[in-house]
Amino acid sequence: MKDFNIKKLIRLNIAGLKPYSSARDEYQATGSEMVFLDANENPFQTDVNRYPDPQQRNLKIELAKLKNVPAKNILLGNGSDEVLDLLFRAFCEPGKDNIITLPPTYGMYKVLANINNIENREILLNSDFEPNVQEILNSVDQDSKIIFLCSPNNPTGNSFSENSVIEILLNFKGLVIIDEAYIDFSAKESWLKRLGEFPNLVITQTLSKAFGMAGIRLGICYASSGIIEILNKIKPPYNVNELTQVRALNRVLDIENVNSEVAELLKERKHLKKALIKVKFITYIYPSDANFILVKVDDANKRYQQLLQKGIVIRNRTSQPRCENTLRLTVGTAQENQKLIEALKSI
Ligand SMILES: *Cc1c(COP(=O)(O)O)cnc(C)c1O
Repeated sequence: MKDFNIKKLIRLNIAGLKPYSSARDEYQATGSEMVFLDANENPFQTDVNRYPDPQQRNLKIELAKLKNVPAKNILLGNGSDEVLDLLFRAFCEPGKDNIITLPPTYGMYKVLANINNIENREILLNSDFEPNVQEILNSVDQDSKIIFLCSPNNPTGNSFSENSVIEILLNFKGLVIIDEAYIDFSAKESWLKRLGEFPNLVITQTLSKAFGMAGIRLGICYASSGIIEILNKIKPPYNVNELTQVRALNRVLDIENVNSEVAELLKERKHLKKALIKVKFITYIYPSDANFILVKVDDANKRYQQLLQKGIVIRNRTSQPRCENTLRLTVGTAQENQKLIEALKSI
């Protein structure tokens, strides 16, 4: 997008906001012999008696290395859900602005729009679960602030074609958020490499899926330094707690293990798919770029209940648009997948 100007997108009250300045913002801890009597902390050691680094510097340094993105282009949050909420609060004026989402997709975009009183314009994916680019661009007006692209998409499992994404990036004056929660399972490359090409591109990732750390809540936002500065201004000062920072750092430094788990899950995905072909009531298996497989069955409600009775919990997506009679199966361990396959064969 040429003539892109982030100052035209930001809410007026946020542009004029004087952010809270925490003790740790005013004096950055270096771990040396300083005596810290500035934050009303309890001085006795519990390992977590001190406030965490509000800028998560150590973690960002390692993430920057791993992802080959400068730390100034990274913002971390309490899960990607917090990152997405910050984007709403920075750029979408309640009761006035709108966003565009592409169902069937991740449910949080709509919930966050509702919480923030932002109109959600839904443009269905086409029958191949690709964006209807022309229809999306036609639905845009001067109050459209964000288009959400989830790629690989949840619950359909596919990644969007590169050309569609580029067309949207080039022709929309607002922010294009690509949610890459499942990118580590994808055959396609991340959009991160192209961050510098598109000033309106925002990418979100998470440690919740491939990194196996859903419990610690760590979401990542990559964008221009201008966008990151705005989000930094409005984030709660200590939004990523100390335990999360420590565990996330250790995991990022242990990337070989993350990679080998991902490789194993990809092998399992292939194996599971092969087995699903033989299940009679499964009528279609959608291609997957993620750690789950969407399948079409004869009667989703019935099959969901039957699996529950056999002790297996999957996700019934039948009420989602274009997902009639579909079930979403997360790829588990070899043993878990075997149990699923046996249950499917027995019903
Ligand atoms: C699971 C998932 C997330 C993860 O959200 P966190 O808050 O980081 O756990 C984000 N986006 C999509 C599409 C997901 O499916």
